[in-house]
Amino acid sequence: MKKYVLILGLLLASSALFAQERDFTQFPGSRRSVPDTLRVPDDFVTELGAFQQGKGVEVDTLDIQDGRLLLVLKDDHTWYYIKNFKLLENDSTFVKDWVPNSTNPYHAPLDSLPLRNSICLVDSTSRFVCPNQTKVFSRFGMRRGRRHQGVDLPLKTGTPVVAAFDGRVRASTYNKGYGNLIIIRHENGLETYYGHLSKREAEVGDWVRAGDQIGLGGSTGRSTGPHLHFETRYQGFAFDPEWIADYEKGELRKNVFVLRRSYLNANSRYTPESLDEEDEIYGEEEKIIAEEKRIAAEQAAIRYYTVKSGDSLSVIARKQGKSLNAILKLNPGIDPNKLRIGQKIRVN
Ligand SMILES: [Zn+2]
Repeated sequence: MKKYVLILGLLLASSALFAQERDFTQFPGSRRSVPDTLRVPDDFVTELGAFQQGKGVEVDTLDIQDGRLLLVLKDDHTWYYIKNFKLLENDSTFVKDWVPNSTNPYHAPLDSLPLRNSICLVDSTSRFVCPNQTKVFSRFGMRRGRRHQGVDLPLKTGTPVVAAFDGRVRASTYNKGYGNLIIIRHENGLETYYGHLSKREAEVGDWVRAGDQIGLGGSTGRSTGPHLHFETRYQGFAFDPEWIADYEKGELRKNVFVLRRSYLNANSRYTPESLDEEDEIYGEEEKIIAEEKRIAAEQAAIRYYTVKSGDSLSVIARKQGKSLNAILKLNPGIDPNKLRIGQKIRVN
């Protein structure tokens, strides 16, 4: 009995072994037939892993045949549109008053510019990146009797400085005051200036995107210590860069900025209170227009009379159909007893 049990046991064991053996041949993926790991080059595995993790790294830029836009693909399976710079090249903004390396190529007088101008700073295809995020060390405005046309943003020499908005480099040059200077012109017509750089890393004609490194911060030119001198200009006129962004937070204040002509004055500074008072801005525009019209009408109506031999102020007044008092009012400080021949008297 014991013997049969042993034989049965041996039979079962061997059949089990046999069955196992057969299974190996049926499933070639098991241990005996192939190595337990797939032989894939290490660097490929790494790349695949990174792609699956998706850190938001940009992996490709695609031309979607739209002409205006390009599609940027990221490794986290998201995407976004960017502008196709090729299309902007012949835009009048990048042609008119385009003088390479000039610190101010514009000629339009201040009073020819619009009273208020809505400027789109960013749209769905563009963004703002703070060129050097820090507290403003020295503000825009008059400083020790000189115009300070930008904000000073302190940094350590060698700190990367980046483009604030998309645009084209109009100047990459050395200037006595600015030191190493880069000027970028943007699609909305604004220009941004980056001064005192220790190194310039963009050339005239380069297209840059917001956040692209354009140089390293420093203290070249008329500078007392390492900082980025950052300017924002419209038609060559500087306005306080704090109107558009908070440099300490590194944030844009608004997507659309209402640039008032009064901001283009060396004494005009950013005032936080007026930011959200759109009604007041519109109301003020009407007031400005009315005042300008009044001044223009008054100037158009001004007439002068040239004093001749034998004239007296009362004779002149009578000839002009005015009262003596009216003539005196129009000519403050005039002495009626000391008229000179050839003297210009305002009569209207
Ligand atoms: Zn400065």
